[in-house]
Amino acid sequence: MEGVPPVSTPESPMESPENAARCPFLLSTWSFGQRANEAAWPALAAGGSSIDAVEAVSVFCEDDPEIDSVGYGGLPDRDGAMSLDGCVMLSPEQCGSVCAIRRHRHPVSIARQVMDHTPHIMLAGEGADAFADAHDHPVEELLSPGAREAWEKRQRELPEQSRASSPRPVDVDPRGQLFAHGDDESRWSNNHDTIGVLAIDERGTLAGACSTSGMPWKVPGRVGDSPIIGHGLYVDPEGGAAVATGTGELVMAICGSFLAVELMRGGAMPGDAIREVLERIAKRSDLEPGHQIAVIALRPDGHWGSGALRPGFRLATSDAGGHQLLKPELVLLPGT
Ligand code: ASP
Repeated sequence: MEGVPPVSTPESPMESPENAARCPFLLSTWSFGQRANEAAWPALAAGGSSIDAVEAVSVFCEDDPEIDSVGYGGLPDRDGAMSLDGCVMLSPEQCGSVCAIRRHRHPVSIARQVMDHTPHIMLAGEGADAFADAHDHPVEELLSPGAREAWEKRQRELPEQSRASSPRPVDVDPRGQLFAHGDDESRWSNNHDTIGVLAIDERGTLAGACSTSGMPWKVPGRVGDSPIIGHGLYVDPEGGAAVATGTGELVMAICGSFLAVELMRGGAMPGDAIREVLERIAKRSDLEPGHQIAVIALRPDGHWGSGALRPGFRLATSDAGGHQLLKPELVLLPGT
């Protein structure tokens, strides 16, 4: 797509060309998003759809055992059991979601089938797994040897009262250390979090997806923001798309992704919308040092933005100019 100009509409000219995407465009959370973007890019660049691209990015991460917060390889709940959540969205009329999946590796693909083949938006637990069985998803082990080992180590080394769920992305390591300071992604220990991905294809269609194994060591049954439309992900062709990662409860409390899109619908640039979302979260009196939230957002006219509460977040972009791993343009609490 060499030479294709940035997307724009007459109503909203591009004021800041450095943050206006060339179409098609892929935007993913965390550094592992870069490998996934690279895998999904050729099809999108060849004229593929944004919905196929966001599913491909998610599937790539769900299959990678090195990513300990998404799909196979994710860390289990308090009792050592795995459960996966994911959703996909094109518009308020076209979205699908599953949560607490226990037997299938690809929640985003199942969510896409919920969107395409049912009158519903969200299926949960055993019903969602049964739906996946009926749609020929193979039954697979979700707990990788590495994740099992991490859970067993935790059982051995941490006293029982310290084994409560950790407000992902902070994880209490066996020495009781929460995280290192500084602007290094590794401070969010046990690698990183949810894959959240937004795309716009050459026809200008927006799509988004979100996939996670949730907070490590969570209370069994806990579901976070990621699979909930309007919380972890929201896409509206008229307003834009946003996806969040980090401590899900903080995002859920303010309908974070919906809020970002709604602000963009009102005319806000993505960076300003993200700032407002993060400021609302930062106003909470119970914010803990280990809480992190990051948001990426993309408007239908190609403007995009990124921001995080604290340092250490990375995002990956792909367009005709290549693949990039970037720091967010906004860190609300830089010294923390
Ligand atoms: N937001 C996800 C959750 O709370 C996890 C994450 O993104 O770190 O389940």
